Amino acid sequence: MSKKYVIANFKMNKTDEEVVSYIEKFKEKVKDFNTEIILSVPFVSIKTASLMVKNSNILIAGQNLNENDFGAFTGEINAEMLCSVGASAVLVGHSERRNHFKETDVIINKKIMKGLRSGLISVLCVGETLFDKKNNLTTQVLQRQITECLNSIYANELSHIVIAYEPVWAIGTGVVATKEEIEGAIKTIRMLLTNLYDEKIASKVKVVYGGSINEKNVKEIKSIKGIDGVLVGGASLDEEKFYKIVSEFNEKGTSEKGTKKVSKKKTIEK
Ligand code: PEP
Repeated sequence: MSKKYVIANFKMNKTDEEVVSYIEKFKEKVKDFNTEIILSVPFVSIKTASLMVKNSNILIAGQNLNENDFGAFTGEINAEMLCSVGASAVLVGHSERRNHFKETDVIINKKIMKGLRSGLISVLCVGETLFDKKNNLTTQVLQRQITECLNSIYANELSHIVIAYEPVWAIGTGVVATKEEIEGAIKTIRMLLTNLYDEKIASKVKVVYGGSINEKNVKEIKSIKGIDGVLVGGASLDEEKFYKIVSEFNEKGTSEKGTKKVSKKKTIEK
């Protein structure tokens, strides 16, 4: 049984002190879990959080990165900076970034490349808006997002990409997609990956769901065929609720070693 991913997105919430207090309590509770846990904390807390989870089963992620290497981009953070403070992963293409900060699939693709080639796991968020859903455009939207965001990404880099299906209408709304909708979207994503790579490769890519997950509905979501975990926003802010969500995905048995980072100097071939 392959490990499940449970990813928290704190968004623009929690001071450094609050992040510390959260991790102190949470780390202890999940210490024997073999779930792949990723906490996406605010930039300013990455270093502290990374030091706190050292040698544990928790990884720390940034919530964004800039697609450029360095230079005159006031207020921005690049992949190297994230790595230098201990981040192992980064969220890319979250709908709030696409919506508020006008991030396009082309920009998101550049961000993934920078992240991957610095050794970061990229959690790529995709999903349709309510307008898309009402107009039966979900497959079309997923096709555009997956194709453009993964442009020039090599097959052997996919082990460092987690795809989060996050229908925009389900994020922070309390409305969860139905089991059928999620299962259908996961199938579509794997079909698109099969077209871009091949079936064997597509079957190995981690695909998670995000959108109004909480400690009450997680059991039902977990039972969805082909799901590799969840991405949780609001409910991850409460350490006890998030612990309950993670518990659902904890497979009993011995813990494997976490996902290895891509070597920075590795020559990548298709
Ligand atoms: C998210 O921010 O990616 C998310 C899924 O949020 P929420 O769980 O609050 O819907």
